[in-house]
Amino acid sequence: MDSCIFCKIISKESQAEILIETDGFVVFKDIYPSAPVHYLAVSKKHISSVKEISTADEALLGGLILTAKLAAEKLSLSGYKLVFNVGKEGGQMVDHLHLHILGGWAKNKPNTVNV
Ligand code: AMP
Ligand code: ZN
Repeated sequence: MDSCIFCKIISKESQAEILIETDGFVVFKDIYPSAPVHYLAVSKKHISSVKEISTADEALLGGLILTAKLAAEKLSLSGYKLVFNVGKEGGQMVDHLHLHILGGWAKNKPNTVNV
């Protein structure tokens, strides 16, 4: 996808602070963080949204969650949120499947906002 910013990050055409890169996934720092620690786990395969996934993507989705877990371990996050925004009404701005990894709140003042 030529116009997709996350595809450009994956192809290194655009810069990002990459934490993890595997055959299928990349984890990089969110440029406008919504939490003290905010990274995005993306599939290298361009899928626009959770709305577009099918049973054929089951392994990919498992891999995406496992990659996010690995990133959280690397970042020493003892607790964190994994969030998919789905569609415009769900707050999705970038149409390339991504899992938000949010954390870094103080241990004595954890983030208890439930959405
Ligand atoms: P969403 O609203 O779920 O689509 O999330 C998109 C996320 O991508 C937002 O948190 C943005 O801050 C982040 N973002 C957009 N462009 C970039 C970029 N070039 N590098 C890193 N993060 C980005
Ligand atoms: Zn893309």
